[in-house]
This record gives sequence, structure tokens and C-alpha cells, in this order.
Amino acid sequence: MKVLKFGGTSVGSAERMKKLVEIIQLGEQKLVVLSAMSGTTDRLVEINEAAKNGKTEEARKLISQLEERHLQTVNELYEDKYTITLAKHFISEIIELLQSEISSYKPSVSEKIILAQGEILSTTLFQFLLEERKINSCLLSALDFMKIDNNAEPENDFIRKNLTELLEKKKGFQIYITQGFICTNDKNEIDNLGRGGSDYTASLIGGALVSEEIQIWTDIDGMHNNDPRIIENTQPIRYLSYDEAAELAYFGAKILHPSTVRPAKLAKVPV
Ligand code: ADP
Ligand code: ASP
Ligand code: MG
Repeated sequence: MKVLKFGGTSVGSAERMKKLVEIIQLGEQKLVVLSAMSGTTDRLVEINEAAKNGKTEEARKLISQLEERHLQTVNELYEDKYTITLAKHFISEIIELLQSEISSYKPSVSEKIILAQGEILSTTLFQFLLEERKINSCLLSALDFMKIDNNAEPENDFIRKNLTELLEKKKGFQIYITQGFICTNDKNEIDNLGRGGSDYTASLIGGALVSEEIQIWTDIDGMHNNDPRIIENTQPIRYLSYDEAAELAYFGAKILHPSTVRPAKLAKVPV
């Protein structure tokens, strides 16, 4: 099974999500890892900052903005009244959870619960869209299989065992959707793989399943020979060794989370 990861831009609006359905609908069985809608995790970071500093009103305002954006997406995304109601209900549950976390803020624990909601929102809204379109898909919670230890290193055996069992239990779907970035930790609390960590989720999954291929879809046509945010006229590179790609990522090429290459290299899965 191929593993495809789509970044925040790919799920950044209703229009993008609809385009994404076209891309993933074709071909063989696949597992699709999604990030939060673009800008959402930054907003969640700001909510945490405000809550941590006792600026509860500011945090509430930021939560309302997040709610607005997701509600607007819902209004443009679905055809069916039933799906719209379902999605709005889901958003209000997440918003309530955010409100409740900021009003009894527990440093570290609340922070990570709050940060996880972006991917939980994007994947659930996307799954609702696939269901409305009668596409044979299933949402897997990354919290059921993605885990890190007390050094924030992936628990590879746990990931492989639990993901394999989950796929076996839910077999027969054409498309599996899951959240990038989020995981649980050694205390069984919600945690994450660090900023940009959805790429890492995809390679951990690809490595665990010894996938045919891991695809990282984003807003640029591949890894370039330099950082296009800084240098003009950069070129995509057709082939890179694992080590070259890791080096680019490690020294700041934002296109890839720095740890992404390792699991793919170990399992010899092309990225
Ligand atoms: P996503 O939200 O899909 O994970 P990111 O913004 O994290 O996307 O990564 C893609 C961005 O990485 C590109 O838009 C580009 O500006 C930046 N980037 C930095 N260095 C490189 C590089 N060497 N090659 C390609 N893109 C790069
Ligand atoms: N949403 C997370 C972030 O913004 C993970 C990711 O996009 O890869 O860092
Ligand atoms: Mg990224």
C-alpha cells in the first residue's frame, strides 16, 4: 500500500479538499496522511501562548477565528444538509474542548491536546466529504497507533503492531485517512512529532508497513537545489539519495521534516 502525505495547503480550503478527492480517488489502495488546514497549527500555538500567559479573552478570540474558518469551509465543502449538520456539530465539539482546555489550562498536557486539534479537524472534515461522495474510505485515529517514548523517539514495534492490527480489523477499504503530526507518549497522553511532523508520520507509517512508496505532496514540485524562499530560480532535483535528502532537511529545507528520511531509508522505501 502506498502512503501519501498532503500538507496544510492541500487541505487549506474547501476547493483544495475537493481537488484532493480527485487526486486520491484514482488507482490502488492507499493510506493518506493529512496535516491541519494551513495556518491552523500556528493559530493553536498562539492560543496556547495566550492561555499560558493568562490572556484568556485573547485565547477565546483566537478560538472563535479558528471556528469561523472551519465553519466557512464546511459551508463550501458539502452538498448534503445531513453532512453539513454533522460537520458543524463536530466543529462545535472541538471548539468546546478548546474552550474547556484554556479555562483549566494545565501546562504541557493542555498544550499538546490543543495542538492536536488541527489534524483532528482536517481529517474528520475530509472523511465526511469522502463519505458524502460514497468513496470507500475509513478514518484511522493516529492516536491508536502512533507513539513516542520518553525520549520523543518513535516506538517502532508498537506502531507496526497496532497499525497492522487496525488495518486488519478495518480491512477492505480503498482509502485510509489518518492524522499527521499527532501521537501518544509513554504516559499515554496526547503528544506530537514536532512542527512539520506530518512528513515524519508518513515515513514512520511507510517504514512500518514496508510500503511500496511514500509520497509527500506539497505546494512545490519537489526538493529543490536551494531554498526557494531565499534564492531565485531554484530547480527541482529528480533523484536524491536518502542521505542527501536528509542533509537538506536537517540543514533547514522546510519541505521535509528532518527525521523523515530515516524510517524510509531503514525500510528501503522510496520517497
Ligand atoms: P507542507 O505544509 O505541505 O508540509 P511546507 O511549507 O512545510 O509544506 O514545505 C514546503 C515549502 O518548503 C515550499 O513551499 C518551500 O518554500 C520550502 N522549501 C524550503 N527549502 C526547500 C527546498 N530545498 N526545496 C523545496 N522546497 C523548499
Ligand atoms: N500541522 C503541523 C504543523 O503545522 C504538522 C505539519 O504540518 O506537518 O507543524
Ligand atoms: Mg511541512
